[in-house]
Amino acid sequence: MRKPIIAGNWKMFKKLSEAVQFVDEVKGQVPAASKVDAVICAPFLFLPTLVEATKGTDLKIGAQNMHFELEGAFTGEVSPSQLADVDVQYVVLGHSERREYFNETDEAVNKKAHAAFENGLTPIICCGETLEEREAGQTVSKVSTQVTEALKGLSKEQVIQSVIAYEPIWAIGTGKTATAEEANETCGEIRSAISEAFGADVADQVRIQYGGSVKPGNIAELLSMEHIDGALVGGASLEPASYLQLLEAG
Ligand code: PEP
Repeated sequence: MRKPIIAGNWKMFKKLSEAVQFVDEVKGQVPAASKVDAVICAPFLFLPTLVEATKGTDLKIGAQNMHFELEGAFTGEVSPSQLADVDVQYVVLGHSERREYFNETDEAVNKKAHAAFENGLTPIICCGETLEEREAGQTVSKVSTQVTEALKGLSKEQVIQSVIAYEPIWAIGTGKTATAEEANETCGEIRSAISEAFGADVADQVRIQYGGSVKPGNIAELLSMEHIDGALVGGASLEPASYLQLLEAG
């Protein structure tokens, strides 16, 4: 049995005071970590404060990106060791917005995935196709390549601990969700690609989230699917009530 993981991606929203208010309201109501992994991926600036505010609770904190180098002359970047130093536990890698606006490549995502494990962080590795790619029948090859390239060179144990987020780009922030069947089919293809690269024993244990306009009203159906083990959620993770409803479905 794969434990569901529901991760909020706050993107570049909220002020520090609003972020603290959110976690103060939510942290006591989060379902037990034995039932569901509850994560909030917040802007860098908020991370140490949110980690402190959630200490000893079942709400875990993640970053939305990082550099793959431990330190150096990389103005404006944040390193994996800096995230680990303030006890951040998760990091989103290769989100489509980073790939599109900041030229993040499969190669960079792979380096970041290695750096994440070397620093005790759990990567949430994103993949997804554009509408044009879907219509051209390229969904499976696109997402399989993104995932196998991202995981290249990791040990079986590290692959098992990785979280994959399948996020069709046309469904992010658009209100258009892939149907549960469509999402499940692609998540199943991702699992097959992992099985081919690392073995069925590994693929069976990797958690694959769906992301793209997930809300309290559609999460239960998505999570009922064989290959969907959680959700990466943007808009609907910004309000405590709706985030808690997402966790309750987990
Ligand atoms: C996301 O931020 O990864 C995402 C899926 O956003 P939304 O839920 O708003 O579509």
